[in-house]
Amino acid sequence: MCYHIYSTYSFITVDPVNQTRHLLRLNVGFIISQPFGYNRDFNFDIPGLRLLPDLDLKDFNGVARIGRTQQGLILQSKFQCFIQTECVRCLTETSVPLQTEFDELYAFSIRSVSESGLILPEDGHIDLEPLLREYLTLEVPIQPLCKPDCKGLCVECGENLNEMMCEHHHTCQPDI
Ligand SMILES: [Zn+2]
Ligand SMILES: [Zn+2]
Repeated sequence: MCYHIYSTYSFITVDPVNQTRHLLRLNVGFIISQPFGYNRDFNFDIPGLRLLPDLDLKDFNGVARIGRTQQGLILQSKFQCFIQTECVRCLTETSVPLQTEFDELYAFSIRSVSESGLILPEDGHIDLEPLLREYLTLEVPIQPLCKPDCKGLCVECGENLNEMMCEHHHTCQPDI
């Protein structure tokens, strides 16, 4: 499998925003009436996903397990995806793998609310988008590289040194 051929990939463009909202909004109301210990897995496998305002993800997949506890519904989630970004050295588009795991409690009442302060909405739907955006943003590298030993661009002629050597002498690695 090659994750670098993303130029052939295209987002389902009808309305990526609404599509995202739809896919990440889980109807969990029916779990409330289940006995303690019941859980249900929601599986995700989405080719392209945009988290507002500007997090474009590819090959998003993973699972959100929603379990019934006395205090509320517990979400245990594990996701992986790729983010399309630009290499800081050679400026070519590159695809960086991200993964995240997080657990959160959606409390039934304010009395049992956890540190993150989440309460199960009255409509029985959990929206994963805000949490996902928050957790994935933490994983995005500040200085993404197309490969660990990217040679960058020639400071004199701008040639991509991964692809060819120009006539200039390069005595040291790029600073970044
Ligand atoms: Zn590079
Ligand atoms: Zn050069």
